[in-house]
Amino acid sequence: MAIDSDVVVIGGGLAGISAALAAADAGAKTRLVTANQSTLRQASGLIDVMGYPPDAAGTDASQRGAPARTDGGPVADPFEHIPDLPEGHPYERVGVDAVRDALAAFDEVVEGYTGEHTDANALVPTNGGAIKPTARYPVHTADGLASDDRDALLVGFESLTDFDAPLAAEHLLAAGVPFAVEGVTVSFPGELRADAKTTRFADLLENDEIPAAKGGTSSGGTGGGAGGGRAGAVHRTRTGSCRAKLVERIDDAIDDATVDPERVGFPAVLGEDRPSAVRIDLSDRLGMPVFEVPTGPPSLPGIRLENQLHEALEARQVWVADGQAVVDFTATDGRDEDRRIEQLQVETPGGGTTPVSAEQYVLATGGLVGRGIDSERDLVREPIFDCHVPHPEDRYDWFADDAFGDHPFAAFGVHVDRSLRPLDADDGIEFENLRAAGSVLGGYDFAAEKSGAGVSIATGHAAGTAAAEEI
Ligand SMILES: Cc1cc2nc3c(=O)[nH]c(=O)nc-3n(C[C@H](O)[C@H](O)[C@H](O)COP(=O)(O)OP(=O)(O)OC[C@H]3O[C@@H](n4cnc5c(N)ncnc54)[C@H](O)[C@@H]3O)c2cc1C
Repeated sequence: MAIDSDVVVIGGGLAGISAALAAADAGAKTRLVTANQSTLRQASGLIDVMGYPPDAAGTDASQRGAPARTDGGPVADPFEHIPDLPEGHPYERVGVDAVRDALAAFDEVVEGYTGEHTDANALVPTNGGAIKPTARYPVHTADGLASDDRDALLVGFESLTDFDAPLAAEHLLAAGVPFAVEGVTVSFPGELRADAKTTRFADLLENDEIPAAKGGTSSGGTGGGAGGGRAGAVHRTRTGSCRAKLVERIDDAIDDATVDPERVGFPAVLGEDRPSAVRIDLSDRLGMPVFEVPTGPPSLPGIRLENQLHEALEARQVWVADGQAVVDFTATDGRDEDRRIEQLQVETPGGGTTPVSAEQYVLATGGLVGRGIDSERDLVREPIFDCHVPHPEDRYDWFADDAFGDHPFAAFGVHVDRSLRPLDADDGIEFENLRAAGSVLGGYDFAAEKSGAGVSIATGHAAGTAAAEEI
């Protein structure tokens, strides 16, 4: 017998979670089915709404699937350009009020983010030293804003190659930031593999532990940690405070630096579960504000955000089926808006399938990265329901001549009506009870526009709300 819900959301990224939260908040019995990890764990944790709006080119249906074209920027107000976006852009479909409603719902659910106090984009330095216009950002990055004129020191670690602090500082200076900045690389206390992951640093900083060398205990710690292990054993040992030792090294670097910093930036590794405690402790010890520069993948800010969103799903009793792909479906006969999805087939961990059914469905399976959109030699398709994905027939037209140009494939995805229902090649509704959200949608290029998380939250929230309204 099929497992029955009011709303089933397919895909557990930012769009799917936003849809499931909205549907549950509207009173619908909601289930979320997701195959693998989403891009949340790779993305920076910044919520970009609109940094570089496309110009108004490509407004007619024949040009749908054309790439967004940026005309300068970044823009100060991410909402200002939404009313002027080309027809078919996901924000144009839902409208600016829905974008604001969705962000308000995000602000309500997620703690430790800021940016809601203003309609202006914040300018956040990235790990490469670029400057990202973003609408919401973790409080841990707040003291690092590029609009702030306090001089800064960026600290990288020898064993964390993801963040090259001297290079990032160089790029920030080249970008004309209004402060002096220098980057230094210090060795992280204790023995760490050269390719240690960000999660390892986070764990050590959070637990304030110095990692031991393989086959022995670590040495050289300062501060009074509890040791207590057998010498020579491979185990977690605490021979000193990792944070105290790190601050000693940074103090030495500050003595040698050419800038007299008023704030210190680290890669985003200041703890997974308790980043505020780590950041505040380091700030106290250094005597100046400390901030994180978004780093990854894997991205600690993205993981922290995902953890919070999963707690919110649990609090709303959304049933989450993780590691389970939707592989097939059945639908009623009929044409256009009469046609309804009846049941999904979901792959179970044991290798079989189980039926799942609902009144309403939300497709939030991601774009080309998440495999919500598949590209074959001459075809771009949406693999579950075979929803129409507009794209030029000739594969050579999928790419711009200039490698750094606006590539049409970046905006490939399903196109939807204003209720976010996927449209077929004749602009008819594919299924009466299916909506789509997030990067499975076409008509925008999130990387060029800097609109990825914003589109997922806005369309996810709108799709979940609309689906619940029809129950
Ligand atoms: C490296 C990287 C960095 C980024 N940085 C930023 C940034 O700094 N700021 C920003 O705003 N945006 C950023 N983005 C973009 C942003 O992360 C995405 O636009 C957005 O999160 C996409 O969310 P989504 O839910 O639509 O898709 P996804 O996150 O791709 O999630 C789709 C989910 O659907 C699941 N799924 C797919 N097929 C099935 C199936 N058949 N059955 C069940 N489940 C299925 C997938 O397993 C996945 O969990 C970045 C993206 C990437 C890749």
